[in-house]
Amino acid sequence: MNRIFRALATTSIAALTATMLVGCGGTSNATGDGLLAQIEAGNVTLGTKYDQPGLGLREADGSMTGLDVEIMTYVVNSIADANGWEHPEITWRETPSAQRETLIQNGEVAAIGATYSINSSRAEAVSFGGPYLLTHQGLLVRSEGNDINGLDDLDGRILCSVTGSTPAQKVKDALPGVQLQEYDTYSSCVEALRNGNVDALTTDNTILGGYAAQSPGDFKVVELEKDGEPFTNEHYGIGVTKDDTKTVDAINTALKAMYEDGSFDTFVDENLEGGVGVEQDKPGDLSFLEQ
Ligand code: GLU
Repeated sequence: MNRIFRALATTSIAALTATMLVGCGGTSNATGDGLLAQIEAGNVTLGTKYDQPGLGLREADGSMTGLDVEIMTYVVNSIADANGWEHPEITWRETPSAQRETLIQNGEVAAIGATYSINSSRAEAVSFGGPYLLTHQGLLVRSEGNDINGLDDLDGRILCSVTGSTPAQKVKDALPGVQLQEYDTYSSCVEALRNGNVDALTTDNTILGGYAAQSPGDFKVVELEKDGEPFTNEHYGIGVTKDDTKTVDAINTALKAMYEDGSFDTFVDENLEGGVGVEQDKPGDLSFLEQ
């Protein structure tokens, strides 16, 4: 198994988090109840992915599995405990990449944990708790009969990614010679790759590792580098209503507890490393969560 993740860049995360929080004001909730009100009321609607093994997956029996599912569950239960409330009932809602900001803004979900990278344009529409994980953009290719080993090999190739995702945008910016096909979900990209309709799929290494593990022998993950550094840094956050600083603070307190009591390591072991077999660094330095 390739080592596909790198040390959490805590300093850049601290800087990023600070940037995300600049300008935060009151706790507005134009539509729907915010996360804290929903937890107190005992019913919370959370968004995640439904088709990403090891991260957010709706199983055949309707149950939810994956690291994002476990982290979101931990966070809402931890917030409930801190306030003396019962653990709420969770209703899961599928939140595809391109719909995340809208679903938060419309109040259809109270919070999203869905391989959701924090970036400045999204932070204009929503606020983020975290980050809770760092990964990088890579490629998934068929194991047999191809010669794609890095960015330079993508020129003129058909590459699949998902509408509204950061990897799709970064490929468009960096590699104008690539024929990018954008689908709604990564699982439909995986089928296109399997059928030979596209040459590669690009997104976060965490996600790609889950698909490679799901179809042993069919696919392999190619790490992407530029000038010896990872091609991108994807810092996963928990998206909530814009400027709801009270909720962001409560999420960050819960995330800190999750690292300190060993739950994060357990979730990574059970879902990624010991689950789908994807390696993921576990940060020792928690200063990036200090506000
Ligand atoms: N983390 C990236 C993003 O938020 C890619 C994964 C996804 O689309 O969920 O856009």
